[in-house]
Amino acid sequence: MVTTIFAEMSALAVTTGSVNLGQGFPDTDGPPEVAQAAADAILRGRGNQYPPLPGIPELRHAVAGHQRRWYGLEFDPDSEVLVTAGATEAIAAALLALIEPGDEVIAFEPYYDSYAACIALAGGQRVPVTLRAPDFRPDLDALRAAVTPRTRLILVNSPHNPTGSVFTRAELTAIAELARERDLLVIQDEVYEHMVYTGEHVPIISLPGMRDRTVSISSAGKTFSFTGWKVGWVTASAELVAAVRAVKQFLTFVSAGPFQYAVAEALQMPDAYFTGISEDLRGKRDLLCGGLAQAGFTVYPPDGTYFVTTDISPFGDGDGVEFCRNLPHQAGVVAIPNAVFYDDPEAGRMQVRFAFCKRPEVLQDALNRLDKLQR
Ligand code: PMP
Ligand code: GLN
Repeated sequence: MVTTIFAEMSALAVTTGSVNLGQGFPDTDGPPEVAQAAADAILRGRGNQYPPLPGIPELRHAVAGHQRRWYGLEFDPDSEVLVTAGATEAIAAALLALIEPGDEVIAFEPYYDSYAACIALAGGQRVPVTLRAPDFRPDLDALRAAVTPRTRLILVNSPHNPTGSVFTRAELTAIAELARERDLLVIQDEVYEHMVYTGEHVPIISLPGMRDRTVSISSAGKTFSFTGWKVGWVTASAELVAAVRAVKQFLTFVSAGPFQYAVAEALQMPDAYFTGISEDLRGKRDLLCGGLAQAGFTVYPPDGTYFVTTDISPFGDGDGVEFCRNLPHQAGVVAIPNAVFYDDPEAGRMQVRFAFCKRPEVLQDALNRLDKLQR
């Protein structure tokens, strides 16, 4: 793979003038007061020079405050919070810090593309446990069977990209029990924590015995609709944060200073902002899911995230990769083939992901275009 599927498909959307429901980014920027805070920070000279390695204190305190407000979790802003260049850097730094060559890392496939790359960079061996259609629940027996004496870590992404599955408290409790029993670490990627339509988001770090064996990762990109700012963070025990920080300092050293001031303010917005995210996206999910079903797709409505996975079997024998390469030319819409997120060549072969973090009129435009597809 030379470029990621996201880069390839977003470039194809531009050259073909397609509606881009591929790469997940909103088409409306986040709160204007947060954008203003970033502009003010630049103009007032806040963060224009290298910020501190672990992130500015204001943001570390705000992250700790967010974890307390939403989950009742206490983190020491000085030793248990680390600011990163998006969740992407946090994932890379955590895997590079915690994996020794030859260690096995269990990840639920389909997995977000950087997981496989970063496990490989760390010299680890990825061991997939497959989430299967139609409801993409974690198979806890398969998970248990996947653990070997070489297993070091379980990588959990809930809410899950690309399937939209939100692991339940019972499922996460079972994963936590296994981690304790077999003395494993857990990394949880929680970037879609505020985008849940059915059920609740449970940080696995909040479950008994998990406080010191979990690295929790999130980011401002999704929650505040500023995916271009690349401000992420880690919350974990002081020991785990120190390990991740030791790697992070040689990846980016620090990330953009003025955006850190803006995100520190954003994290303190009233509860209604955070609960409003899901309310807004739920309507968009329903619009896109309904329209895709009408256009002939088999739709697996998501419980969280801003993606919906579909099955394209009704459109013929071609697989999802071929379908997505043709779709911009045939219908003027870009989507992502889930197959690229699987090791199992069969499991995701006919699945295609669409993003619904777009204005309703843009979603409707895409649906009008897709409605013309031949079944
Ligand atoms: N994890 C998942 C599951 C994602 O979908 C994304 C995409 N944004 C990321 C991590 C990366 O987040 P960031 O843009 O903050 O690096
Ligand atoms: N998280 C977004 C997605 O899954 C964007 C990924 C990216 O650009 N690397 O589409």
